[in-house]
Amino acid sequence: MRLVTIVGARPQFIKVAPVSKALSGAGIDEILIHTGQHFDTDMSDVFFEELGIAAPQYHLGVNGGGHGAMTGTMLQQIEPVLQELKPDRVMVYGDTNSTLAGALVAAKLHIPIAHVEAGLRSFNRAMPEEINRIVADQLSDILFASTNVAAENLAREGVVSDRIFQIGDVMYDAALQFAEAASKRDILSVAGVEPQRYVLATLHRAENTDDLTRLKRLVDGLETVAATMPVILPLHPRTASRMRESGLAFNNVKTLAPLGYLDMVALESQAAVIATDSGGVQKEAFFYKVPCVTLRDETEWVELIELGWNRLASPAQADISTAILNAIGKKGSEALPYGDGTAARNIATILSQAHIQ
Ligand code: UDP
Repeated sequence: MRLVTIVGARPQFIKVAPVSKALSGAGIDEILIHTGQHFDTDMSDVFFEELGIAAPQYHLGVNGGGHGAMTGTMLQQIEPVLQELKPDRVMVYGDTNSTLAGALVAAKLHIPIAHVEAGLRSFNRAMPEEINRIVADQLSDILFASTNVAAENLAREGVVSDRIFQIGDVMYDAALQFAEAASKRDILSVAGVEPQRYVLATLHRAENTDDLTRLKRLVDGLETVAATMPVILPLHPRTASRMRESGLAFNNVKTLAPLGYLDMVALESQAAVIATDSGGVQKEAFFYKVPCVTLRDETEWVELIELGWNRLASPAQADISTAILNAIGKKGSEALPYGDGTAARNIATILSQAHIQ
C-alpha cells in the first residue's frame, strides 16, 4: 500500500512522528510531502531531527501570503505530485491550510483520504482552522477521531459510523514516547527558572494576534503576571511580527525563540501553570498534570474544562493575569480521554485493513 502524508505546520510534524513509526512497523509505504507552510529551522527542521522523522521526499516550499494565495499555490503544487505518485490513499492531519489543500487535491483526483484529528470543532467559523477541519472531514472516508466528543461531532454532522474511528490522540503517543528524552533537557536552567515557579505561555492564534485590542490585553495581562512570577514565552513568528508592526513589546515576560519539542515538553512539564491559545499545548498541559488557562473564547478540547484541568479566559473580557495566577494549584480529575498511547498503532492497523477490503 502506498500512502502519501501531506503536512506543513509545526503541530503536524509532532503528530506525524509516532504515526510514521507505526506505519513503517506495519509495512505501509509512506511518502511524505512537506508543503513548506512552516519552513525554517525553529518551526520545521528541529522536529524532523529530534523526533527522528524521515526527511520529506517532496518539499514544496509554499509559505507566506494570505490564506487564498497560500492554499491556491499548495493546490497547484500538490496536484502534479499526487498525479505522479498515484497513491492508494492520502493522509492529512489537523486543521491547517496544508490539511485543506491536501484533502482538496486528493478528493479531486479521486484518491481516498484519511484525516487524523477529525471531528474537532470550536463551533466558531470565524477561525480559519474550523473551516479547514470541516472541509477535510467532509472529504475524508476514514476519520480518525481523538476523543468521544470528536466522534460525536462527526456523527451529528451525518458522517456514517463505519467511517469514524475513535483511536485516541497521537499527541499522547508522542508525549509518552519522548518523555524520557525531554526529561534530560536543561532548558529550565537556560531560561533561568525553577520547577513549579514559573508560568509558561504561548500565543499564536490569528484571532488573538490579528486583533490589536486582544493582543494588547494579552501582552498587558502577561506583563502583570510577570511582576509576580516569571513568565516564559517561546514566541511564534506570527506573534513576533504582529507585535513589531503594532509597536507592542514584552518587557518583563521572558521571550524565547520557538523551541524544539523536547525543550517545550521540558518547560511544560515543570510549569506552575500554562497559559496558551494553542490546541496542542492545552492537551500537553493535561498530559503533564499542569493546570492550564486557555486564552480564547472557546476550546475544542472541552473534556479538559469538564475535568477541571483547564479554564477559558477570553482575551476580550477576562482579567487575564488574575485568571492565570488563580489557576496555580488547581488540578482536575484523573481520566484518560485521549486513549492509552496506542493511537498511532491503531491508525496503522486500520489503514492496513482498509487496504485489504
Ligand atoms: N511547540 C513546540 N515549540 C514551541 C511551541 C509549541 O514544540 O515553541 C509544540 C507544542 O509542544 C505542541 C505543538 O507545538 O506539541 C503545538 O503546536 P502549535 O501551538 O503551533 O499549534 P496548535 O496545536 O495550536 O495547532
